[in-house]
Amino acid sequence: MNTRCFGNARKDVPIIGQGTWEIDRGDRAVAIESIRDGLDSGMAHVDTAEMYGDAEPLVAEAIAGRRDEVFLVSKVLPSNASAKGTISACERSLGRLKTDRLDCYLLHWRGSYPLAETIAAFEELRQAGKILSWGVSNFDADDLDEALAIAGEGRIACNQVLYHLQERAIEHAVIPWCEAHGVAVVGYSPFGHGKFPKPGSPGGRVLHAIAEAHDATPRQVALAFLSRRPPLFTIPKASRGEHAAENAGAGLLALSDDELGRIDAAFPVGPKPRSLPML
Ligand code: NAP
Repeated sequence: MNTRCFGNARKDVPIIGQGTWEIDRGDRAVAIESIRDGLDSGMAHVDTAEMYGDAEPLVAEAIAGRRDEVFLVSKVLPSNASAKGTISACERSLGRLKTDRLDCYLLHWRGSYPLAETIAAFEELRQAGKILSWGVSNFDADDLDEALAIAGEGRIACNQVLYHLQERAIEHAVIPWCEAHGVAVVGYSPFGHGKFPKPGSPGGRVLHAIAEAHDATPRQVALAFLSRRPPLFTIPKASRGEHAAENAGAGLLALSDDELGRIDAAFPVGPKPRSLPML
């Protein structure tokens, strides 16, 4: 599994991680085993959130006894992101996750509390050792400008944003902004949250042909594309071990410039939307 520096967290993190949204909806034991399989295959970055229902306790069970090998991320809901509310939400997440620290703590999306309040709380949590770094999610370039003006350079570890083959809006402004400021870009819903290109579709055929050449699968090709260069990371969610193993297999898949170009042509970036798409 390839790793790269996770922005201002200054830590090497696997380029392919594990999402956990809705992982609590199916068979709990199978989902726990899937996260463990993912860890065994090197997908140490585990992404969760207070919003994800029973996912945090499920993650706690999956990583029991293995905390030190995990890069654990959770998120505060905007409705809790006041100065005091952020601290309490973090402490609740730590309790549900049965850990004493998060590797990174994110604001899930922008809400009505002033950003300065949330960032001050993040810094307080960091100084207390309850979080080792903090970041944001669903931030467009102008939101990032605001966060930077409050926090200063070197503080924002990552921006977690929607990024899959059919939704490449972050390539217009968000990725360049993050590259310029040493911020990791964590692409979420890399399979389009269940809308992966069909095998017989024009784009699906391109993925299939490239996959065949590498003895890989179309999903592995997609993940390799979405994590193709710094500062990109991707966090597919799998609630079955065989899916986790397949996803982890993309972590060493290097696509040639010609292959990247063919994918780029099959799934064009499209015009810059007025606002950043999110789920
Ligand atoms: P996703 O990763 O794009 O897709 C998940 C779906 O793909 C599930 O149905 C899963 O099935 C299936 N899948 C995974 N690996 C597969 C494989 N190898 N072969 C076939 N099917 C496979 O969707 P997502 O959950 O929306 O996004 C990933 C993570 O990003 C989330 O879990 C969450 O942690 C994060 N996220 C963050 C935000 C935010 O606002 N910050 C928003 C959305 C998501 P199984 O479950 O059956 O394995």
